Amino acid sequence: MAKDVFLEFPFVSFVVEMGFRSLNRMPRDSREDIEHWVRPEIRALTAYHVPDPGQCIKLDAMENPYGWPDELVDAWLERLRGVPLNRYPDPTARRLRDSLRAAMEVPADMGILLGNGSDELIQMIAQTVTAPGRAILAPEPSFVMYRLIAQVTGMRFVSVPLGDDFGLDLDAMLEAIEREQPAVVFLAYPNNPTGNLFDAAAVRRILAAASGLVIVDEAYAAFAADSFMGTLGSHSNLLVLRTLSKTGLAGLRLGLLAGPPAWLNEIDKTRLPYNIGVLNQASAEFALEHRSVLDAQTARIRADRATLFAALVALPGLQVYPSEANFILFRTPAGRADTVFAGLRERGVLIKNLNAVGGALHDCLRVTVGTPAENAAFLAALRASL
Ligand SMILES: *Cc1c(COP(=O)(O)O)cnc(C)c1O
Repeated sequence: MAKDVFLEFPFVSFVVEMGFRSLNRMPRDSREDIEHWVRPEIRALTAYHVPDPGQCIKLDAMENPYGWPDELVDAWLERLRGVPLNRYPDPTARRLRDSLRAAMEVPADMGILLGNGSDELIQMIAQTVTAPGRAILAPEPSFVMYRLIAQVTGMRFVSVPLGDDFGLDLDAMLEAIEREQPAVVFLAYPNNPTGNLFDAAAVRRILAAASGLVIVDEAYAAFAADSFMGTLGSHSNLLVLRTLSKTGLAGLRLGLLAGPPAWLNEIDKTRLPYNIGVLNQASAEFALEHRSVLDAQTARIRADRATLFAALVALPGLQVYPSEANFILFRTPAGRADTVFAGLRERGVLIKNLNAVGGALHDCLRVTVGTPAENAAFLAALRASL
């Protein structure tokens, strides 16, 4: 009947017909396809969110606030002039690995694997061992990428709450390792976001108890008084993870995994060829040749951390946690963290709000140690926000 009506009005019929045709040609609503095809654990994730700093002083991401002197920038650019962009990079970045071995005192009999940031190495480790039912274990709170990468690679993530003052709860860790038989245990040393070094004897107990890998993640080694790099080889399942990000090269994306060659040879099979580009290799080599500049900046940050810590402790109502890293965790009076964070932001200072994470981090904020001027601006904004 309706069709008959349309036939009487050829133009209307034509328009309706074309409408149906273009509907057919339109892409289908992708929602159903996505629900069908995307793995449920991926759909359940929220992507790693990085806030836009706008014009704020940026003290949220553990970056080194210092750049290079002009002469050094000129020499670096001159170096890059000779880098052949038309050629693939050295696939194993041998020269860069040699420089890193010297700079980070990797024992001579240990291997080195490079990643596009240590995040990529965490992903490669997980890809090497993942299988249905297998677990990654880490204390909680700790670095969020351990959980995220476990989920993305189809592994279970098992977290064990930290004890008092964010130290390892050794009994709980050993019990969980026995129960879960994790393929990998991640220990950030110092820990992010709490800033403390775990008890080294407790780490050794975990190394002895775990049948899987134990990754000691030393992203903040440059700011810490201790390291497991020198003890590599003492346990066949110990690997040490490092990065250049926190010492002044966050934009470069270069991480390093050191450990027994037998393990690294297996993990290396998950690495995409040429994961470290020619510009990164040349720039990192250059930076390591001028390591004294980075070392001086790191020393400066360590000294300023002590000043910032003392100033925070002097503020009434804050609980401030000692730090072996380039950031400081502190707890505001109950229920105040969100407003203090917002107050800082209104005053032009961006730090990290951990209150939303909840659990042991309720009311907690984390500030990166900046330049003396940035730290002073942060403290002034904090006093006004409290
Ligand atoms: C920042 C951080 C990393 C990641 O470093 P990238 O090399 O920049 O990927 C790894 N582990 C911990 C504990 C960190 O805090």
